[in-house]
Amino acid sequence: MSNYRDLLQQVKSEIDEVDSTRARELIEEESPAIVDVRERDEWEEGHLPGAVHVPRGNLESRIESTVPDKTKTVLLYCAGGNRSAFAAKTLDELGYEHVVSLAGGYTDWKRNGLPFEIPQSLDEAKRRRYSRHLLIPEVGEEGQLRLLESRVLLIGAGGLGSPASLYLAAAGVGTLGIVDDDAVDETNLQRQIVHSTERLGDSKAESAKRTIEALNPDVTVKVFKERLTSENVDRILGEGWDVIVDGADNFPTRYLLNDASVWHKVPVVHGSIYRFEGQTTVFKPYEGPCYRCLFPQPPPPEMAPSCAEGGVLGVLPGVIGSLQASETLKLALGIGEPLVGRLLMFDALEGTFTEISLRRDPDCPVCGENPTITDYIDYVEFCQGGRTHVSS
Ligand SMILES: [Zn+2]
Repeated sequence: MSNYRDLLQQVKSEIDEVDSTRARELIEEESPAIVDVRERDEWEEGHLPGAVHVPRGNLESRIESTVPDKTKTVLLYCAGGNRSAFAAKTLDELGYEHVVSLAGGYTDWKRNGLPFEIPQSLDEAKRRRYSRHLLIPEVGEEGQLRLLESRVLLIGAGGLGSPASLYLAAAGVGTLGIVDDDAVDETNLQRQIVHSTERLGDSKAESAKRTIEALNPDVTVKVFKERLTSENVDRILGEGWDVIVDGADNFPTRYLLNDASVWHKVPVVHGSIYRFEGQTTVFKPYEGPCYRCLFPQPPPPEMAPSCAEGGVLGVLPGVIGSLQASETLKLALGIGEPLVGRLLMFDALEGTFTEISLRRDPDCPVCGENPTITDYIDYVEFCQGGRTHVSS
């Protein structure tokens, strides 16, 4: 029967080891997957740049989702090179083709003056609050930290802005901007769930801020009690946003926001609702179509839908606004397939989702090859609160 030392020696004779100088060359030449197999507290004190953390105890269960390509070179390290030697043996057995262990480990790497990073980490309270995100590999602690650093601007704290802002706040998006110059009235409460009866008459932006802050104190809410105009759009967008959620209810704002977002290169998660039908898409500047690729100009006033007809099933903005929040989180995290160039339509009466593809127009007056619109246009508002369906 062999003891630990014999076993370690035997394992080391069966795996490939590199010293820190060779490891550094390997990182530059082959960009291997760098896997840190130490415990959390060790990882938090510093790690190799670009490394992922898979503690030795979770290695077998997590490595295939972390490094799915078994032909990719994997550089494993721990503190001194022993745990990573056993880990390398395990990966060999799991079929990884090029596995190397860093001899001397992180201690030797640091002693040689090679670069390292000290990770940001979530404190205990945040770890608990966002635990259901931390359990998803696509989000995890890194993703949650990213969300907490994210800045999302919501145009409108109405039907779509209500669920979108609530879910984004609950998810821990660190900064939410809310643009709305309106006040809460009784007809809003049938669907605008960020407000309440006791807030009747209050500013919608302020009311949303109070609800959001009560929900999640990690979120900073920046209130803009104004209507988006050519005068203020550069100032508001200039504050730097990762994603904009469009919950606007009128054409002038839609066009203004489109042009500004293309010029500021900020993706817009668009949503619109009418009676039982809603739709959403993502306008990502220069990667997919913009609103003007689809509708170069607003319809003439005589063609505009009647102002009186704008009814909506109360829950419909809940569905579409939640989809907008979902798209926003994907964009902020850089995961999944955002609805770029795809319009997702929901029919509540039929209970169906339909998707159509949208194409970028090379002759688009704003994002096309030879743009003809290069300055903001304030369109006359011909219908307040009316139908602003993309497909209409
Ligand atoms: Zn365009």
